[in-house]
Amino acid sequence: MAIKFKGVDFLEVDSLLSDDERLVRDNTRLFIEENLIPIIEQCNREGRFPRELIRPMGELGFYGASLQGYGCAGMSAVEYGLMTQELERGDSGVRSFVSVQSGLCMYPIHAFGSEEQKQRYLPKMAKGEILGCFGLTEPDAGSNPGSMRTRARKDGNTYVLNGEKMWITSGSIADVAVVWAKVEDEDDTIRGFLVETDRPGFKADDIHGKWSLRASVTSGLALQDVRVPESNLLPKSGGLKSPLMCLNQARYGIAWGAVGAAMSCYDCALQYALLRKQFRDQPIASHQLVQEKLAWMISEITKAQLLILQVGRLKDAGKVDHQHISMAKRNNVWMALECARMSRDVLGANGVSDDYPIMRHLMNLESVKTYEGTHDIHTLIIGSSVTGIDAF
Ligand SMILES: Cc1cc2nc3c(=O)[nH]c(=O)nc-3n(C[C@H](O)[C@H](O)[C@H](O)COP(=O)(O)OP(=O)(O)OC[C@H]3O[C@@H](n4cnc5c(N)ncnc54)[C@H](O)[C@@H]3O)c2cc1C
Repeated sequence: MAIKFKGVDFLEVDSLLSDDERLVRDNTRLFIEENLIPIIEQCNREGRFPRELIRPMGELGFYGASLQGYGCAGMSAVEYGLMTQELERGDSGVRSFVSVQSGLCMYPIHAFGSEEQKQRYLPKMAKGEILGCFGLTEPDAGSNPGSMRTRARKDGNTYVLNGEKMWITSGSIADVAVVWAKVEDEDDTIRGFLVETDRPGFKADDIHGKWSLRASVTSGLALQDVRVPESNLLPKSGGLKSPLMCLNQARYGIAWGAVGAAMSCYDCALQYALLRKQFRDQPIASHQLVQEKLAWMISEITKAQLLILQVGRLKDAGKVDHQHISMAKRNNVWMALECARMSRDVLGANGVSDDYPIMRHLMNLESVKTYEGTHDIHTLIIGSSVTGIDAF
């Protein structure tokens, strides 16, 4: 039987956290232990998102947790980050669901929406009564969303939207889609629209055959002459900067989440190495090459914890820049993926079985490396920041 997870803290990073921060972390950890860990491998096998957790997560204040007012928990950036860390220790797909609802849907309504839009959506989204998705990526516009083809045309007091979005988390279960489109009458400026998913002309079809994020819904969206009232435009959105601001929120959560996935893999590999015996009836943990892997992992996890904690402190102080978040996302997801691969190796053949969480994390992290700005795009963002030269 698996030993209960006690956290991974080599360098007393816990001592850098406040009581409130530890409380958020521990409460989320308990929820995940009791509600997600027991079902996640089966969900992953079946390619099923655990919808039964939507409302309970709402009751715990997980959605829009770092927003102020409108029924949101008003957590600090570090508290929010510790929450996403624990969610992703459970599963990247479930963390993705919470990130999309929070950073990619509630955040733009909070930041760019009218008071009426905020009142209508945020309290219900905080409870999980209304679900959102974020439509930016298109079949031919991924790393370069500025090349999107989706268009909005003003027609009287309505907008008519046409286009296609691809790889949209929660697309087919969402009640409202935040759709980014170029507005024809405004020099093709990119703006955000709230599109209720039951509007005529809106269609969401799930993408099947994913070997990653299997416990998360991923869909393609088609918008054919979808008509929305002008009051559905997010009035304060304008330009590519607006969706990029949303992505910054979500990337920040991912950088914490990746630490959670890495902790899960490392913890599993350590326990296994202490129990599994090969050669002279000795645990494999006694072999130097296995210890080297464990030492590498705990060192990298510790560095990643300190990196994202500092980014979180900067965010709480209002001093964080997008390149700081890029560094944390790039490093921490890479680190988690390497930990997942090494941990898989430590478990030998058992590492490929879903009796253990490692292979699921490994597959999930391949998506996490790609979405919200690929690893290489974040390299270019950091490069641009230090040289002043864009190399995209
Ligand atoms: C499971 C999943 C869920 C997702 N959820 C959402 C969602 O909810 N909403 C949403 O809008 N999107 C979502 N995405 C899409 C995701 O954000 C994109 O996949 C991502 O932005 C990369 O785009 P792409 O896949 O088109 O790859 P591409 O942009 O085609 O990139 C392919 C490769 O080329 C490299 N590359 C591209 N340009 C350059 C360059 N200038 N220099 C060097 N290398 C370059 C990339 O780094 C990458 O390695 C999701 C994706 C996945 C897999």
